[in-house]
Amino acid sequence: MPPNMNPKKVPIPEQAPQERIKNFKEVALGYTPEQAKEEATRCLQCKNRPCVEGCPVNVKIPEFIKKVAEGDLAEASKILASENCLPAVCGRVCPQETQCEILCVRGKKGEPVAIGRLERFVADWAMENLPQETPQIKKNGIKIAIAGGGPAGLTCAGELARMGYDVTIFEALHALGGVLMYGIPEFRLPKRLVAKEIANALNLGVKIEKNVIIGKSIKVDELFKEGYQAVFIGCGAGLPSFMKVEGENLNGVYSANEFLTRVNLMKAYDFPNNPTPVKIGKRVAVIGGGNVAMDAARTAKRLGAEEVYIVYRRGEKELPARLEEIHHAKEEGIIFKFLTAPVKVIGENGWVKGIECVEMELGEPDESGRRRPVVKKGSNFNFPVETVIVAIGGTPNPLIRQTTPGLETQKWGGIVVDEATMKTSKEGVYAGGDIVTGAATVILAMGAGKKAAHAIHEALQKKIR
Ligand code: FAD
Ligand code: SF4
Ligand code: SF4
Repeated sequence: MPPNMNPKKVPIPEQAPQERIKNFKEVALGYTPEQAKEEATRCLQCKNRPCVEGCPVNVKIPEFIKKVAEGDLAEASKILASENCLPAVCGRVCPQETQCEILCVRGKKGEPVAIGRLERFVADWAMENLPQETPQIKKNGIKIAIAGGGPAGLTCAGELARMGYDVTIFEALHALGGVLMYGIPEFRLPKRLVAKEIANALNLGVKIEKNVIIGKSIKVDELFKEGYQAVFIGCGAGLPSFMKVEGENLNGVYSANEFLTRVNLMKAYDFPNNPTPVKIGKRVAVIGGGNVAMDAARTAKRLGAEEVYIVYRRGEKELPARLEEIHHAKEEGIIFKFLTAPVKVIGENGWVKGIECVEMELGEPDESGRRRPVVKKGSNFNFPVETVIVAIGGTPNPLIRQTTPGLETQKWGGIVVDEATMKTSKEGVYAGGDIVTGAATVILAMGAGKKAAHAIHEALQKKIR
């Protein structure tokens, strides 16, 4: 069959903006089988597979897409799952536009193949239609500990379990998934799917110890004393950064981390059916311009805020959030205040009443290559809000580095690793994901978990020989 040369991706059906701001259901509805087949036939089946280079876990992209085009979804799913243990997650939240799709040759004269949408379609189909199988794996009895059950830890655990290791994940919270569960909102990533996909990924006898904080409940050195032969640290970068301005301690100021955790993991959107409430004003200012800021703003809107502002100190071109998230936020009526930085949170009787901001202009590029925002003198102005959500990034919790002697870390708290193996300065300890890179992406964390698993295997095999 000749390829479909339509320069545009098959559009994905979505809930209309006016409808979706009243609910927490998923925004993008996914392809139908016909739409998936039509999109799959846009793939040219390139022999040199440039798209695969862009995927940190090396999904066999042309191979799985070929099976979609042929209508063999069971085989497509098998191919996908051989490299990616969380395809329904990645199909939804991967920044495909800067990973696999940016290298797709179809992108040279039109839009790239919608690799993420097809991945999501196949993963969702498999969840509904294929029985969950428990693979028979011969165990080797070697114990490995994983600290943190986010994408990095889950991937490392899944890979090692597949190789026969006796793997235990120690997770501080009462649910696995890390940011997939407590950060990314339900309307972008339904938690039912995350839980199901995690259960599949760990369906190889991985043990799970929830509510265990490594560094507090048990230290890394104690894990070795308990017989673990290697430890992988994937504890993320969930300690929120603050603006350090006057008024930041007022009632009504949240870190995005706390706000989203309350809403997503503790289901505050379903209060009083669920016990966790979250108070939100009529007017909300979200400080920051990344994915986290977009998620917090769109969540605030769904909780009933009438005016939601994104306050960002650079311009629209510099917004670090994914284009798709910015587009969705605009459609939902989020108001962007660019080149604006808060200098004070204004209070009354202990509660937020507004923020004082200054206008900024862009100066010379800084070390990140982006133009540095500079304050315009005398440009101070106030605007009224009742809630402020701070979404300006995070760093790793210091607990691990404070309780693990011999572990080299960066000034900002990230763990130093050898990038080829994810090995740290401490014998037998590996690390990956946001705790190494700072806030990054799900797929980079998964890639790091996979790389570490293979390096752990190689090191332990050498030891045994
Ligand atoms: P995490 O996901 O943070 O997981 C770390 C886990 O370790 C958590 O479960 C935590 O509870 C646990 N933990 C922490 N300390 C300890 C301890 N001492 N002992 C035991 N367990 C511990 N990326 C994308 O690719 N696309 C997106 O659309 C996107 N949107 C995002 C939206 C939000 C709101 C946020 C916050 C992030 C978003 N990201 C997105 C980034 C992405 O989620 C992260 O890069 C990724 O989750 C990092 O994975 P990780 O496994 O390193 O850490
Ligand atoms: Fe692309 Fe992410 Fe899928 Fe890899 S996992 S093919 S980067 S969407
Ligand atoms: Fe298909 Fe694009 Fe990959 Fe080529 S680069 S195989 S067209 S997805």
